[in-house]
Amino acid sequence: MIRKDMYIDGKWRPARSGRQREIINPYDGSVIAQVAEGAREDAVDAICAARRAFDTGPWPQTPAVERARLLFRLADLVERENSDLARLESLDTGKTVTESRWDMDDIAGIFRYFAGLADKNAGEQIASPNPDTTSRLVHEPVGVCGQISPWNYPLLQASWKMAPALAAGCTIVMKPSEITPLTTIRITELAEEAGFPPGVVNTVLGPGIDVGAELAENHAVDLISFTGGIATGKTIMRAAAGNVKKVALELGGKNPNIIFDDADFDLAVDYALNGVFFHAGQICSAGARVMVQAGIYERFVEALKARIQKIVLGSGFTDGVQMGPLISADHLAKVERYVAIAQKEGASLVLGGKRPDDPALKNGFFYLPTLFTDCTNDMRIVQEEVFGPVISVETFATESEVVERANSTIYGLSAGFWTRDPDRMARVSRALRFGTVWINDFNVYFVQAPWGGYRQSGLGRELGRMGLEEYTEVKHVYQNHATQPINWFGI
Ligand code: NAD
Repeated sequence: MIRKDMYIDGKWRPARSGRQREIINPYDGSVIAQVAEGAREDAVDAICAARRAFDTGPWPQTPAVERARLLFRLADLVERENSDLARLESLDTGKTVTESRWDMDDIAGIFRYFAGLADKNAGEQIASPNPDTTSRLVHEPVGVCGQISPWNYPLLQASWKMAPALAAGCTIVMKPSEITPLTTIRITELAEEAGFPPGVVNTVLGPGIDVGAELAENHAVDLISFTGGIATGKTIMRAAAGNVKKVALELGGKNPNIIFDDADFDLAVDYALNGVFFHAGQICSAGARVMVQAGIYERFVEALKARIQKIVLGSGFTDGVQMGPLISADHLAKVERYVAIAQKEGASLVLGGKRPDDPALKNGFFYLPTLFTDCTNDMRIVQEEVFGPVISVETFATESEVVERANSTIYGLSAGFWTRDPDRMARVSRALRFGTVWINDFNVYFVQAPWGGYRQSGLGRELGRMGLEEYTEVKHVYQNHATQPINWFGI
């Protein structure tokens, strides 16, 4: 049974308005749940609860080792529920259940990692320039954190925020995407079972322009952490200026995957496909911009074509299915618009470019894996995030040319390149200005390594030690052990 309420101050409750929203299965358009549709007033209730829990509740006095114990317990519960959580995530997003299981494994690991860091962030003594004094740095929780997550990796993205915030000692108000709230609701139940005190973990449901905007604007919120699109990120940044709250942004990407002619050809083809068609291309780090050196361009396109034609679409719960649907009818329409723009701008459509003919898929939001060639740097399909199963292939002549072109984007989340030349590995990894650079691999991330973007791909870093630091303030405590009179004024 899927719970439908919001969780505020340790209690489950409907929206004050009583409104509800239908949650749709993208595979066939059926309704899988009805959940509370909150509004600003519900967000305010949750913020007040988190504020009380931070200012006067037991949480600030809870020792770091106890916070760690609760997070370890939550990791165990995620592991216990792995199959059910994965099933729920696939129902809600359409992705294959195998991918969802990998997500759940990662999520348990994320809670363990930050549980392990919770009691290792006590601060340090620094050198004071004055005799008979001590100076120490103390890491303290930022306070009340609003956490807004997207629909593509609903629980994974929520966990990237939830785990470090709780490890640092903050209280949180989570807001999942209104179209994929189910696993965030479920992990809130697990947090309750793990024993987090009332008000420490709150989950509000509802639309971004209402509930999300309240989290970004409200002066009782100390930090807003957001993962989603660039336009929303900019709105949130402006809203956060009202009380100069801290802002952490994980925005989109248009990630180049560069294939030099000395690369291991077959591996590069294999990873180019994985780089973009995973979760139907709805990944911020999708390698949708493939750049192939001139000498191997034709052969590379042929190899991509041969394998793309064999991609199996269908239900994420069916064995052998490799790609599910897009998330929604609106998103499908956006991908269709980009494909039309690419054709108008002169890119050559080699494969796909339409919905599948299979009548079994007609009620879902499916789109065929799509391949464009003859793409150039100025095309919107090359510069903008499509967030769908669409590859654009460009060719290049030299290393310096491709680096310059790869960097000429407003995004800077991730990039990958393929070569066997160790000197080139050093040169190109230094020259590419992206938050993550993969050499002879693509789309790898893990909790120990920080994740975030250069340029307009974001602000700050999630995961790794830096992920915990986002949720802490640093206090300098200076103590004079032998205070002497100054005798300056009025003597
Ligand atoms: P989105 O920006 O439409 O929505 C994201 C979240 O913001 C949702 O919860 C939504 O309700 C909320 N929201 C919308 N308007 C708001 C407002 N005015 N104020 C406050 N909150 C608001 O993004 P999406 O379509 O859900 O997700 C796709 C985007 O997320 C893509 O651009 C993708 O690249 C990005 N993304 C980035 C990363 C990363 O790590 N950098 C990871 C996953 C997704």
